[in-house]
Amino acid sequence: MRKLVVGNWKMNGVASDLAEIAAIAEKSLSYPAVESALCLPATLISRACDIAQDLPIGGQDCHIQPSGAHTGCVSADMLVDAGASLTIVGHSERRAAQHEQDHEVLAKAQAAHKAGLKVIICVGETLAERDAGNALHIVLGQVAGSLPQNISGDWLSVAYEPVWAIGTGRIPEMADVREMHGAIRAALVDRYGTIGNSVRILYGGSMNGDNAAELLAVENVDGGLIGGASLTCAKFEPILAAA
Ligand code: PGA
Repeated sequence: MRKLVVGNWKMNGVASDLAEIAAIAEKSLSYPAVESALCLPATLISRACDIAQDLPIGGQDCHIQPSGAHTGCVSADMLVDAGASLTIVGHSERRAAQHEQDHEVLAKAQAAHKAGLKVIICVGETLAERDAGNALHIVLGQVAGSLPQNISGDWLSVAYEPVWAIGTGRIPEMADVREMHGAIRAALVDRYGTIGNSVRILYGGSMNGDNAAELLAVENVDGGLIGGASLTCAKFEPILAAA
């Protein structure tokens, strides 16, 4: 399957960054063998879509309800209305800071799918959990609790993002990436049957132009979710090239 390389701009990006988004969109056309996308702050989505050419633009979270009395929240329908075609849910920064639980992540994923968005569900262990030997247990628990029971079509991806690798410049040993992605694949096939083989499993956490080729070559690493290195075209392009 084609690799999926998704930038996650987190809480970064204002109008003056639209030129960078346009540059990334333009550059992504040179890599038709790679599926790419940018998940942006909600405030930029509409304007980014105007200049994104073929580059899909996404959100980073959505509410479980389509509308209503939820001050400050953005619904999946609103993301669609702004032009988004995908969204991240369950990022570890939201699981930590907004105390999002697996069942909420699941509800968000279902709301996003219902609205017509492709969905990237994030999972990943903390350093304490890995050091205690619990990484597989924690991540497979998140997979069990955050993913829908049944799927059809190709709307779902999973991103394995070890929390301790996000924004730190540290990445896991390749053997650990292989083990985790293999375990997630087995869980997907167990749950979905053969469709589980076509659900992409992205790696995220300090992926950059220097390590992308090695990470993306690992079995069952079907793409990347990239934070810091997606903020400029100069840093993002080498990852597209590696994919
Ligand atoms: P990073 O972030 O690439 O800056 O480590 C990845 C993510 O949090 O999705």
